[in-house]
Amino acid sequence: MQTLSRPSWPTQAYIDGKWVETERRFPVHSPATGEMLAEVADCGAKEGAAAIESAVRAFASWSKTTAYERSAVLLRWHALILEHEAVLAELMAREMGKPVTEGRGEVKYAASFALWFGEEAKRVYGELIPTHRADKRLMVMKKPVGPVYGITPWNFPAGMITRKAAPALAAGCTYISKPAEQTPLTALYLAKLWEEAGGPAGTLQVLPALDPEPVSQVMFDDTRVRKLTFTGSTAVGKKLYAQSAATMKRISLELGGHAPYIVFEDADLDRAVKDVVACKFRNAGQVCVSANRIYVADAIYDTFAERLVRSVSALRVGDPLDAASQIGPLVDRQGFDKVQAHVTDALERGATARAGGKAKEGLFFEPTVLTGIGAGSRLLTEETFGPVAPLLRFSSEDEAVRLANDTPYGLAGYVWTRDLGRAFRVAEALEYGIVGVNDPVPSAAQAPFGGVKDSGIGREGGRQGIEEYLEVRYISMGLPG
Ligand code: NAD
Repeated sequence: MQTLSRPSWPTQAYIDGKWVETERRFPVHSPATGEMLAEVADCGAKEGAAAIESAVRAFASWSKTTAYERSAVLLRWHALILEHEAVLAELMAREMGKPVTEGRGEVKYAASFALWFGEEAKRVYGELIPTHRADKRLMVMKKPVGPVYGITPWNFPAGMITRKAAPALAAGCTYISKPAEQTPLTALYLAKLWEEAGGPAGTLQVLPALDPEPVSQVMFDDTRVRKLTFTGSTAVGKKLYAQSAATMKRISLELGGHAPYIVFEDADLDRAVKDVVACKFRNAGQVCVSANRIYVADAIYDTFAERLVRSVSALRVGDPLDAASQIGPLVDRQGFDKVQAHVTDALERGATARAGGKAKEGLFFEPTVLTGIGAGSRLLTEETFGPVAPLLRFSSEDEAVRLANDTPYGLAGYVWTRDLGRAFRVAEALEYGIVGVNDPVPSAAQAPFGGVKDSGIGREGGRQGIEEYLEVRYISMGLPG
């Protein structure tokens, strides 16, 4: 097994195929221990401008390579990411506290986008349209959008980057990445692997920044950056959507969620409990598609609650570098305070903590199950982003669907039932971009991921994922003579 030796972590910015020093650096801390892991290049407007020049230059040649050439680089990147699975999982455990066993799963997930889009590059087809005149031919071809600016969050430091960069690069775009300030090391490591895979200078660049605004502003001001792709909170997404209007950028926004998980009385209870735990507690609940409201049918509520409490109480909280740990710390003080505030608020409004409910040392929080949630509790409307499962009752299918849809968010919704008719009825009635029927982890590279309403615009993954990076070129040709 490879282990991580500190000198192997790149900490400089990766611009124009070079590792670049900046005037300032900023520290990256382990949320588990508080230890400073590294000081990383802090990019601003100057580095942003340099990256744009390089991305524009590289686009001129990268966009003219064949899909087969781009695919070859992406498939080498895929292989290298998998080869470095242990190192990347360890890096994520250190910089954002994801348990290392779970991190290995994320690395496979991240790599799967390089593989999928490496293959999809070869399936970007055009169209020949039946003509209204015998002397004309009407054609559609797809062209890459241009240089892309991508902003990503810390909760999937590898997967969120490859889910954007791989389709962009496959389409023939160049990609400038601004990773979250909490997790720049994983992003820089991915850039190192892109370099090793033979990715040409300027095709993929990584610009860490403590303050995201100055480096982003130059991207918003420059008409040559043709697209913004953002994953993060709804509030920031809306702001960036407005900022993108000035230079009329294409946009993709993967924003927050408030996922309902509906468990009907005909569910396989053992599996349903296991699935709710997987959906709610992976990454300590810091997942955009994590269940936020768990609706359980009256008839099984007490039994379900009892079994869930037993399973959640058995989760092992601990050092993310320990392969046996299932729950690590929350990413930072702000995230921790929000979880604490949501639990305190729910308890004050009459809820009971049937499991957990309290802070542990540092940024660790006990895996929690709450019942008896009072109306108006913050966790019913705001994303908790922590290891807290609120259980609620319902008495009919209509009521469950109505409650589930009563939110401005629309990313993912879940249902557990063995009734085929109900499975379809509910899956079609839920106003969400993704519905997991008896499936707590629906995301896969070959399937479209994304939300409606306040959860965003556009899709990542699937054959839809590459379309986000392509423009339609219509050619109408008159036949001479
Ligand atoms: P955040 O919006 O605060 O930050 C996300 C990214 O945006 C970071 O890189 C940050 O530096 C950058 N950013 C913040 N303000 C900016 C500005 N003014 N200009 C330019 N960049 C700016 O979100 P977060 O709290 O770090 O991440 C958690 C959120 O992300 C949650 O709401 C979660 O649901 C969401 N998320 C969504 C998905 C999805 O696919 N829909 C996936 C993961 C996370």
